[in-house]
Amino acid sequence: MTRMTLEAEESRLLEGARAADAAMRRDLAEWVAIPTGRGHVEGVEAFRERLAARLGGLGAVRRDVAGDPRPDWLLPGGAAEATAPATSLLERAGEGVRFLLVGHLDTVHDPRGPFQQLTSLGGDRASGPGAADMKGGLLVAIVALELLEAIGEPVAWTFALNADEETGSFHSAAALDAAARRHDVGLVFEPALPGGALALERLGAGQFRIDCRGRSAHAGRDFAAGVSAVTALARCLLKVAELPDSERGLVANVGPISGGSATNIVPDHATAWGNVRFRDEAGAAELGRGISALATAAGAMPAVEIEYLANRPAKPRTPQVEALALEARGVAEAIGIELPFAATGGVCDGNILQAAGLATLDNLGVRGGNLHRLDEFVELDSLSERAALAAILIRRLRRRR
Ligand SMILES: [Zn+2]
Repeated sequence: MTRMTLEAEESRLLEGARAADAAMRRDLAEWVAIPTGRGHVEGVEAFRERLAARLGGLGAVRRDVAGDPRPDWLLPGGAAEATAPATSLLERAGEGVRFLLVGHLDTVHDPRGPFQQLTSLGGDRASGPGAADMKGGLLVAIVALELLEAIGEPVAWTFALNADEETGSFHSAAALDAAARRHDVGLVFEPALPGGALALERLGAGQFRIDCRGRSAHAGRDFAAGVSAVTALARCLLKVAELPDSERGLVANVGPISGGSATNIVPDHATAWGNVRFRDEAGAAELGRGISALATAAGAMPAVEIEYLANRPAKPRTPQVEALALEARGVAEAIGIELPFAATGGVCDGNILQAAGLATLDNLGVRGGNLHRLDEFVELDSLSERAALAAILIRRLRRRR
């Protein structure tokens, strides 16, 4: 049964969140103005220090885990990245249920583009890079912990800050996986789905590369001696196009592709990159088999080489997640907001946490929209609303278990 009323301490959390509203709007404007997109190291590190200092103010002890390398075949160009950002773990000792809160510092936005500030759109809506995804969510989470501290609730939590979620969390996945295994409840502060909905189920995701080698020849003088890598790749892509099955949640998307160097030369090299989505392990394996089957035996001409990595496991709707979601909905009802449930094909770090065995609610952040676009926006009234939701939810979860 959900409780429709608030306990006295819960009312204090709600009042505290409302009192924090103006400060949250100011903080968000400052945070959004720190560029953290596309590997902008100075911005990411400045933002990391700012959040770490604030969490340190709550007594959290910091430990940074070095970033793992990312496979170099993932992107066109193949060059290794200059940096592998660390994951910061800020751990606050407490009693009882251990909460793992996760947020990413990075955004998708160009640190040198025109979209740099939080700008009012009138009413409670404002637009800014990462305002919803997920600087608003980071703020919600930190304020929730501050509210709990203010009422003297001795919550045991770790806040994990990573800096590569938008590029697949390859650098931080191992750190998140290890942290997940030491906690009891996972809370991720990605933005709410449309209508303020909580995602109870997410598809998994993976990456692949198809690399074809042929034999170069002059198209006019010696065409028959050539073996076209572009033709070989085209044949592969037609087979990949047979793999998706929307009924069963199987997606295989190809792009970008490249091949050839001039129109009068038979191309000896062609490559395609792609992304897969799947509902479960069986789906991941099926797509992996379908793509891997394109590889040719050693010495073949043309030759086809495959790379395939299912890096974000699916996040199915489990009874544990459902129980957490119902608890959250009970809190939402008690503070007068709607919390519908939904499913999404989008992936996030909640996929990694749950695959490590940690039941996780993954989009407790702000309401907003147009994510990853130049008109990304946040509903500013959701800042304090969601901080109250998270704070009361954490208190109830630690008192129920
Ligand atoms: Zn995000």
